[in-house]
Parts: sequence; structure tokens; C-alpha cells
Amino acid sequence: MSARLLLATANKKKLVELQRILDAALGMHQIELVGLGDFPDYPDVPETGLTFGENALIKAREGAKRTGLPTVADDSGLAVTALNGMPGVFSARWSGAHGDDAANLDLVLAQIGDVGDEHRGAAFVCAAALVLPNGREHLVEGRQTGRLLRSRRGDGGFGYDPIFVGDGQERTNAELSPAEKDAISHRGKAFRELAKVIAKELPR
Ligand code: IMP
Repeated sequence: MSARLLLATANKKKLVELQRILDAALGMHQIELVGLGDFPDYPDVPETGLTFGENALIKAREGAKRTGLPTVADDSGLAVTALNGMPGVFSARWSGAHGDDAANLDLVLAQIGDVGDEHRGAAFVCAAALVLPNGREHLVEGRQTGRLLRSRRGDGGFGYDPIFVGDGQERTNAELSPAEKDAISHRGKAFRELAKVIAKELPR
């Protein structure tokens, strides 16, 4: 028998990614992952936190309360050193229009246009929370540190990937294959860490 787990997202790519990580960590068919697409009346939950961890917990608590299922939620973004950690939790709506990846990236590039190479550090950060119907909560964080280029390179990934080169890498995240990115990304690290917690917490 497999245990059901909700990932509080409507993003199908995240569902596939977490399912792949859980299968690798726990064995195939141990966890049946469902997304918000399986709950048609699920409301839009405002992300009112000022940290990735707060937002991940807000979304996971809401999911557990509304569905009665153990719930995972993640929140992620780009923290730019020269911008004091911004766009941070505002990464998706940095230029105003929610989800306009191209405009968000252009704005960050313009904001650090005159910042020298030695100060172009940045990190992708992902917080992932697990909230159980009995109220138990877990929060983990994954990071990928690196630096920002002055123009785009690569067609893969999404968001700020075309201008981000991870430490130890020569290619941008948009020039990596999905598997290469998963292996070093903030979300890959956070999900793999959470898989260990899920293995302990979910009876199968
Ligand atoms: P969310 O956690 O899916 O809401 O991501 C928030 C925003 O952070 C996205 O819209 C992107 O702008 C940015 N972001 C998060 N993860 C990545 C990534 O892996 N690559 C590039 N941008 C990302």
C-alpha cells in the first residue's frame, strides 16, 4: 500500500520532480503524490510571509487543513547579494506582473548593471515544508550559490536560469539538462532532504 501525499502546487513539473526524487529515495510506488489539480475548488492561498520558510509553511498548513492529507509545499527564489537578498520571496513578481519571467530577469540585470564582477554573487534558495494532519511540521532548505552574468545564455530551465552560473560550473543553469540541474539545484537539494523526513513520518 502506498501513502498519499499532497504537494500544494498546481505546477505539474514540480509534481514530476518530487515524485522522481521520492521514488529514487524510497523505492517506486511507495508514495502516491497528488497536486492541487486534484482539488478543483482549492482557493488561491496568498503568500504573505517575508521568508521562503514562512511561505512554504503557510501553503503546507493550508493543504493539510483543507484536505486532511500530509502536505508538502515549497517556496523558492533568487537572492542577489548586491540587492541585499532581493528579489527573494518577490522573485516571481519582481517586475510587477506575476510570472513574467523575462521582465523579472531584465529588471534584475538592469538593477545590477554597474555592479562589478566581484560583487555579482547570488543564490537560488528553496524552502520545503511537510505538515502532517496531526500538526507535526518539518522545514528544510536547499541552496545553490553562484554568480550572475550580464546577458542571457541557454534555452533550458525557467525564471532567472539563463543568467545564473552555479559555483563550480561554467554553464548557466539554462544550459544544463534537467537531470544535471536537479542534481545541484536548490529545489533538488531541498526535496531530497525532505524525502528523508517523509520516509520517517509516513507509514506505508
Ligand atoms: P516558486 O517557488 O515556483 O514560486 O518560484 C518563485 C520564482 O523564483 C520563480 O517565478 C522564478 O522567478 C524564481 N525561481 C525559483 N526557482 C528557480 C529556478 O530553478 N530557476 C530560475 N528561477 C527560479
